[in-house]
Amino acid sequence: MANYETEAVVIGSKNFGDADKIITLLTSSRGKIKGIAYGARRAKNPLAAPLTMFCNISAKLSEGKNLDVIRQAGILGRFPKLEADLTKMAYALFIAELLGELLPENVAEPEIFDFSLKVFKTLEERNARITANIAAWKILNLAGFPLSFDICPICGKKKEKSLRLSIKEGGFICENCNAKDKIEISEGENELLANFNGVDWNKIDAGLNFSVTGDNLICAEKILILFLRSVLGYNLKSLKFIREVL
Ligand SMILES: [Zn+2]
Repeated sequence: MANYETEAVVIGSKNFGDADKIITLLTSSRGKIKGIAYGARRAKNPLAAPLTMFCNISAKLSEGKNLDVIRQAGILGRFPKLEADLTKMAYALFIAELLGELLPENVAEPEIFDFSLKVFKTLEERNARITANIAAWKILNLAGFPLSFDICPICGKKKEKSLRLSIKEGGFICENCNAKDKIEISEGENELLANFNGVDWNKIDAGLNFSVTGDNLICAEKILILFLRSVLGYNLKSLKFIREVL
């Protein structure tokens, strides 16, 4: 079995057997991978501390038939506020689950890897709900599922601003086209969605250059959830957690 070493962030963790864990890692060199960590549930095991959710690690693994084996892991960085604040944790779990469900295994996505670290850092520092909304659209974009604003997703023509949205088609449709699932949204809702999709992440530490009102946020969030369900084919579990706990 080939051995390899990679930087990674822990985006999923499941107990397995008596003392083991199956860990989902987003790695810098191989994209998403699943690995087994033998003994990682024993407190004194050296894998126990680094293989906790959202931990940024350096890992040594061996390729396996179904699962790779995580042999060593060292902590490069943590996001302690995500563990200390339930709201931040809930939205970080949403981002982690989205990455885990959306990305294929063993396909290197260095830009998405770097971005995930930026998102967890930003979730610590800024409003978690708004950050998670903005981050989810960016992840969808990077993974090849953009929400189309300027080009009608049905006829492919560039168009004026439209308020008619088809989730199934993946964007705002032009006046000549129609879609069974089309919904009409308001100017304000359209603008917030466009702002969410247009955020410059290099400048996010300085704050957003648009305001977010409660009603528009609720609508934008509904559209995000519908869009995610359309892309994935099912609902993310973390959304239920957010609804029930927060
Ligand atoms: Zn069209």
